[in-house]
Amino acid sequence: MVGRISLDEPKTIATLGSHSALQILKGAKDEGFETLLICEEKRLSLYKRFRFIDEILAIRHYNELLDTKCQQRLHDAKSVLVPHGTMIAYFTYQDIENMSVPIFGNRKILQWESDRNLKQKLMNVSQLTTPKLVQRKDCIDRLCIVKLHGAAGGRGYFLAWNKETFEENARSLLNQRRIRSEDDLFIQEYIIGVPTYLQFFYSPINRQIEFLGADIRYESDIDSIGRIPARQQLSVNLEPSYNVIGNIPLVLRESLLEGVYAMGERFVKASEDLVPPGVTGPFCLEGVYDKEGIFTTFEFSARIVAGTNLYITGSPYSELIYDKPMSTGRRIAHEIRVANERGLLKQIFT
Ligand code: AMP
Repeated sequence: MVGRISLDEPKTIATLGSHSALQILKGAKDEGFETLLICEEKRLSLYKRFRFIDEILAIRHYNELLDTKCQQRLHDAKSVLVPHGTMIAYFTYQDIENMSVPIFGNRKILQWESDRNLKQKLMNVSQLTTPKLVQRKDCIDRLCIVKLHGAAGGRGYFLAWNKETFEENARSLLNQRRIRSEDDLFIQEYIIGVPTYLQFFYSPINRQIEFLGADIRYESDIDSIGRIPARQQLSVNLEPSYNVIGNIPLVLRESLLEGVYAMGERFVKASEDLVPPGVTGPFCLEGVYDKEGIFTTFEFSARIVAGTNLYITGSPYSELIYDKPMSTGRRIAHEIRVANERGLLKQIFT
């Protein structure tokens, strides 16, 4: 393995070819960096279309990112790697820990994102309202959403309202070999309201939190079921799935914003206490606003989320802070540039 080296002056921003790669590299280019994409061969034709990508490192499978040759190439280009959802989905925490290339943000907190128990702990210490957790299928006494550990993009989730509906769906996942046993499932109270993704950026350099945007996910096929009248829904015995297809922009009532900042700040503080140096750069609180305007957080992401792809030219919130189009991807590159100028790279890389 290439030893982890300290980076004096990053020249290149690198990321994996998927998720929010276009936004990250466009933002990097706009801030004056070279850009490098580590890309699976099957996706080359897509990414070759964009001129702001200076170099593409073609690999057959994401696992090759772990190879010494690939890591060395990243070092040679004086790269910093920006993690996103695909990195969390495809690599174990240990893989990420072992990567020798500098990573933007706190790589330790990525483990807290992928481990359900750690995740819940961080949300609790942040004093976020969270859905009731149901420990056993016999205790299901209300509408619940059942999730797969580490599921990518809501795939395989189902609804259950008693032990029988839980078992029926779990059996189907077992038959499809999506799970090894019912223990791979995680049961949460279903919150009725508006599912909302709150996109933040925390800068350890100026010790400030920025709220950069909000979105709603459009998921197949739960979001399209409402287009079918109830009689037809019942007759074809629909089982909704929660597979994310895209994102829809959302602007919040202004009166909700104070609470948004307060939640973000508590999350930053709790992460500093539990996973020093804490969350660095982009993160997202994911939950549901109910009819009283109360936000129940069911998840967080401790890195850039794909919903930020909506705001490549800036969002209604970034417009209030910056005089230039500031996507989350560009905000990351901006932070790296400023930290470099002030000799503070250690605060934002691990
Ligand atoms: P996730 O992968 O946890 O972000 O969840 C995928 C989707 O499931 C979300 O966009 C919501 O539509 C839905 N969801 C997840 N957890 C809950 C919950 N506790 N209550 C209501 N909807 C939820």
